[in-house]
Amino acid sequence: MSCLFCKIIEGTIPSSAVYQDEHCYAFADIHPQAPVHVLVAPRRHLASLAHSDEADRALLGHLLWAAAQIAAQKGLAKGYRVAINTGEDGGQTVDHLHVHLLGGRPLAWPPG
Ligand code: 5GP
Ligand code: ZN
Repeated sequence: MSCLFCKIIEGTIPSSAVYQDEHCYAFADIHPQAPVHVLVAPRRHLASLAHSDEADRALLGHLLWAAAQIAAQKGLAKGYRVAINTGEDGGQTVDHLHVHLLGGRPLAWPPG
């Protein structure tokens, strides 16, 4: 398995775990863009949101639910952003689906 995030999820590559359950693994981004920057990834390899299908609907909802739990646990009462970069134009650089959770500072809109 050559996927970076699969290696992180299986523990071959170290990471700082934030939350985990049977469906997902959340860990601190190695290059944080905000005081809180967590990546929430499904344990099962799924290349991107564009690769999801009908059978993944519950999993996709679960990833957002997990992000909200983490945001609450991190005390992001003033708000936060979740983002799923998808494909080349979407700025995706790691081809294993992940939700970015960003918070702890005001976030500009629109993004670049
Ligand atoms: P993308 O650009 O695909 O939306 O997001 C990939 C994210 O993964 C980036 O924010 C990047 O900093 C993070 N990242 C890349 N390699 C590693 C790594 O080895 N460990 C961790 N914790 N994060 C990584
Ligand atoms: Zn993977």
